[in-house]
Parts: sequence; structure tokens; C-alpha cells
Amino acid sequence: MQTRQTIPDSPRLSYATETAYKWLIELGIDSFPISPLDVIDKLPQMILCLSYSKAVAMGYADDPCNIKKKAADARSLKLRGINQYLIIYDDSKDKPKRRLTFTLAHEIGHILLGHLDDFEETALNRGGLTNKMYRVLEKEADCFASEFLCPSVLLAKLPYDPDYIYLLFGISEAAAERKFSETMGKSFTRYKQYEEPLLRNFYRFFAEDLEDTLFKNIYASGNMPFNYELAGYCRKCHWCSNYITDRKATHCDYCGEEIYSLGELRSMASRVKLGRYIRIPGKTHRKLHNRVRYKTEVIDRMQLCFKCFNPISADEECCSVCGAPAVNRCMNDNRYLDFGQRYCPSCGADGTFGRYYTEYENIQDGLDGIAPPSDEWAEYPYLDYLANYIRRKNKNSAGRSLYLALMYSRAFIDDDNNILIYTSSQKLKDIIESNTDTLIDCLTLTDQIPHSKVDIKIADSHAPP
Ligand SMILES: [Zn+2]
Ligand SMILES: [Zn+2]
Ligand SMILES: [Zn+2]
Ligand SMILES: [Zn+2]
Repeated sequence: MQTRQTIPDSPRLSYATETAYKWLIELGIDSFPISPLDVIDKLPQMILCLSYSKAVAMGYADDPCNIKKKAADARSLKLRGINQYLIIYDDSKDKPKRRLTFTLAHEIGHILLGHLDDFEETALNRGGLTNKMYRVLEKEADCFASEFLCPSVLLAKLPYDPDYIYLLFGISEAAAERKFSETMGKSFTRYKQYEEPLLRNFYRFFAEDLEDTLFKNIYASGNMPFNYELAGYCRKCHWCSNYITDRKATHCDYCGEEIYSLGELRSMASRVKLGRYIRIPGKTHRKLHNRVRYKTEVIDRMQLCFKCFNPISADEECCSVCGAPAVNRCMNDNRYLDFGQRYCPSCGADGTFGRYYTEYENIQDGLDGIAPPSDEWAEYPYLDYLANYIRRKNKNSAGRSLYLALMYSRAFIDDDNNILIYTSSQKLKDIIESNTDTLIDCLTLTDQIPHSKVDIKIADSHAPP
């Protein structure tokens, strides 16, 4: 018979946190908000999940898992004889969706933390759990749910506030406030080993899908902001559908047109007028150097020319070789703009980077058009992350060149973990080839599997095999 442990005196919060991170990585989860029901679907051999009304309809019991008797949101148990668990959750209409999300993540926590296996008092569903023991296990499952749905180790890297947490992670306002006060100003070095794998998995989401997710969570029903206080977190340009997350913006940074003010979104009359189309999804346009902005680093100038790839020194506004700008400024009022802004969000005038956009987008469109060489190859999903990782870890000109070259490339991986990179010019191919050692070292570290070689081709010269 399995030896069982005694329930600890105090909750094992590090254990719960690490278990949450391990499972996020193991399950390959790569976007927020996380849906616990989708997670359960990924574990069909392990977890069965039924809504209360379905369990009743199936004749499972009069009051399955004593949900009503105990007034519980959900309960889980281990099925006799097989290694499978059952979660029953209350699906009555009066329970908000965000509460159910947390409840289910909490129940998944009980299961993945071994609460239904490891302890005599819980294993056979016998009862005999004291209040104190119960509270310890509840705290552990709560901690699991909180870290699984909204990993602190990621939050610590990103600029955020309670509303942002609420919008992005699908948890309740109260949970988001709590999360904010628990994580603000704290470091999570204890969980360092999970930081990079989680950043890698969620990198694409933060670079490409973040605004879309914010938008969908703001304009949720009736084609209106469900809470207009949050409308400023993401608006949409009604001319070009560009998402706008700058609260102070009066002009679209992608097309330069004037956009609806936050005030207009707040008034009922204009919301009604806007309502017809505002929920049609917008667009996340490609940014020059599409990258995740980490809390700790603000880059406001190119250290390497994005056009000819020559180094630019810190006192130069332009590349001394080709004249491309090193900083993005409004050509009307001279203020600094973000790398991603074609037009000034305050006055709508051109930015200095603006005219390079079309060229950049054409290169990216060309790269998008490349098909994998055969069925054995799949898109390598971590290229942007890898480029960024290289730049963060190699703060020299080799690191910067390689970063930039990879931003103008596309990569595939085959069944034997070979990597094939298509880049857009001979110059970039040379840069990557001369830094192959760095590239392979970083790939081996971030993929956590050994890589020994990388093939590099020029996109234009690619012909189907
Ligand atoms: Zn519980
Ligand atoms: Zn626009
Ligand atoms: Zn240049
Ligand atoms: Zn301006």
C-alpha cells in the first residue's frame, strides 16, 4: 500500500507555485487568459470534468459530490480503482465566469498537487480532515490557481497594474487587486529557472496578441465597453482598425488619422453611435522590431542601422552610412516616438521611421510567404523570443547584429530538431553565419535540447525541393 504523508502544518507555497509553472510549461500553454476547461481537455486520461447539471442529468447522484449540501463552487475526488479524478462544478447561471475560472484552476490544483493521493485524510475521501488541515490545503490550491492563471514570475517582467491584470488574465477584480499587491516591487528569483521557459512560451502572445486580448475583454457585450473606465486600455482606430493602447493618443500611430477620444467612448450617446462596429476585431500591425517591452528596459534608439546594419554611435541621430534614422521622432513637434509608431499619436504628423515601414512590411510579407521545405518541417515558434534572448544576453555589437538579422528571418524546425533559417539578404546571411556559435549556444539553452548545426538560406533563392 502506498505510504501517505501527513498534511503539513503550513501551506507549501513554493511547491504550489513551482507545480503551477511546471504544468504551464509541460502543457505548452502559450496564451492568456488561460481556460481551465481547455487545460482539462489536454489531460483526458487524468481528469474528468462535469458540470453539476450534466452530472444530475446523467443520473450520477441526487446531489453529485454534495455540491448543494456543502454550498461548494466545485469539488473533486479520485475515482476508485483507476488513476483518474473527477471534478464537478456548479454551473448555475448566477456564478460569474471569472469566478468559475478560478474555481476550476483551484480544483486542478488539488489534483496536480497530489492532495487526493498523498494524504491519509483526503485520499479515500474519508473525511477526518480538521479545519486547520483543510485551510492548509485550500491555501495551496489557491496559490496554485493564482500562479497558474497569472504567473508572478512573468508579471514581474512586464509593466502592469491591477486593471491590466484583470483584463488579461481572466481573474476577478478582487483577485487582480490581490495579485497586484502581492507582486508589486517583489522579485521572484527563487523561481528563476521557470522564467525563461515561460517567457519563451508566451513571447508571441505578448508581441502579437496582447492588444487583441485586451480589446476583446473591454468590449465584451452589447458592442460597448462593459466597463468604460477600462476603455483607455485599448481603443481601435475606426479608419484603419489599428489597436491603440496609448491613453493620451488623439491620432492613430499607424495611419495618422484623428481617433475617437476616451470621452466620446464614455458618453452613452457616442457609445451607441460607435456600437455598430466597435467590436469588429482590430489589427495588431507589425512594429519595426516587433518585440516585447520588458519592464526593466526601454530602448529608444537603434544601436544598429535597421537598413544597412552598420553600427550607430550613441551621439548620432542617423546612420552615417545610409542616412536611415536611429531614433523615431515626430517630424512636426520633434518628440520621441516609439519604434512601432509611423505617425505621431499627439499630432498625426509623420515619424522619421514612417517611410521605412512599407519596405519593412514588404520584407516581412515576403518572409511570410515562404512555405516549409516539406511536411517534416514546422514553423519554429520561438524565433522572436530567441532573437530577443540573444540581444539580452550578448550586449555587444555581435549580439545586436544577430538580433537584427533574426528579426528579418523566418525559421523552421524538423522532426530531428534541425533548424533552417530563411533570411532576407546576403548581408544578413553573412551576419548569421559569422555568429553561428552564439546562435547554437542560445538555441541549446532556450530549447533545453542540444543543437549542433543550423542551416541558413536566403529567402528569395528558395525553390521548392
Ligand atoms: Zn479546495
Ligand atoms: Zn488608423
Ligand atoms: Zn544605415
Ligand atoms: Zn507630433
